[in-house]
Amino acid sequence: MASELTVIVVDNFFTGRKDNVAHHLANPRFEVIRHDVVEPILLEVDQIYHLACPASPVHYKYNPIKTIISLLIQFRKSKFSSKFAAIDSWTNVVGTLNMLGLAKRIGARFLLTSTSEVYGDPLQHPQVETYWGNVNPIGVRSCYDEGKRTAETLTMDYHRGANLEVRIARIFNTYGPRMCIDDGRVVSNFVAQALRKEPLTVYGDGKQTRSFQYVSDLVEGLMSLMEGEHIGPFNLGNPGEFTMLELAKVVQDTIDSNARIEFRPNTADDPHKRKPDITRAKELLGWEPKVPLREGLPLMVTDFRKRIFGDQEA
Ligand code: UDP
Ligand code: UDP
Repeated sequence: MASELTVIVVDNFFTGRKDNVAHHLANPRFEVIRHDVVEPILLEVDQIYHLACPASPVHYKYNPIKTIISLLIQFRKSKFSSKFAAIDSWTNVVGTLNMLGLAKRIGARFLLTSTSEVYGDPLQHPQVETYWGNVNPIGVRSCYDEGKRTAETLTMDYHRGANLEVRIARIFNTYGPRMCIDDGRVVSNFVAQALRKEPLTVYGDGKQTRSFQYVSDLVEGLMSLMEGEHIGPFNLGNPGEFTMLELAKVVQDTIDSNARIEFRPNTADDPHKRKPDITRAKELLGWEPKVPLREGLPLMVTDFRKRIFGDQEA
């Protein structure tokens, strides 16, 4: 909107909150529609940023069948047994497919937000876009990983088959203000725990790594990709890599040096390491992240503090 665009947000508010956009509601260039992308929708727009999908493992595992369906499958009642028909009762063509169908009808450019999870538990480090990944097809994370992989496939098939203009981003772990406080992901967990004087819950031995990107860097990356000439896929992430124990240390340094650490059993199939190679985005989009973790985290902490304790203690 700052660059004079009109923005229509489509959200079913499963993990989003109206509060996050409340400050835009009076802007004539802004609209929100409560809608679930597993249902078809008619709109007239020039560009579609398809971000719809729960991204926290806690959320996407909550209803894994809906996660994968809303990401990918064309479920036709006639083709499946009655067991599947129950699932199918609320959708026969879904999520990504609806957005691609919409883009095709109106000739809009379509940007898919895929994920670093397409690399699974990677055997190459850092991950380059040409790496095909190491995903467990039958694991508890598969609904998301395979869902996004197939969403990439569908996107490329619409590009090849229907001449649709498409863009694919693979987003690495991202954090920032307005994240759900009890989202279940590691940065929001540690920050909320430290503020509430609860122990920081480190899963497993805490030696697994992630690379954390501040939200404004991601937004710039997505817009550069949408406006640019290259399809991708592009890794969009911050190459600064941390073990979970190192992340806990940054949170202690930022919020409370006395915050305790409590070890918990890890979840199944947790990727051991993750770090984007962003050479392609640097060269072709002229993009790279600007905000290191130690600068971005305090901005998130200010927002979390306000939401947890109210304005008076912020
Ligand atoms: N679709 C939509 N909005 C539109 C156009 C299509 O939601 O403006 C949905 C439509 O319901 C369909 C899906 O996108 O289920 C795929 O559309 P497409 O035209 O590619 O496939 P078809 O309908 O021919 O199977
Ligand atoms: N994790 C952790 N404590 C938490 C939540 C997550 O140590 O309270 C770990 C988790 O095991 C994983 C990493 O943090 O290794 C990132 O998890 P997250 O759910 O944030 O995102 P993912 O990259 O797994 O999708």
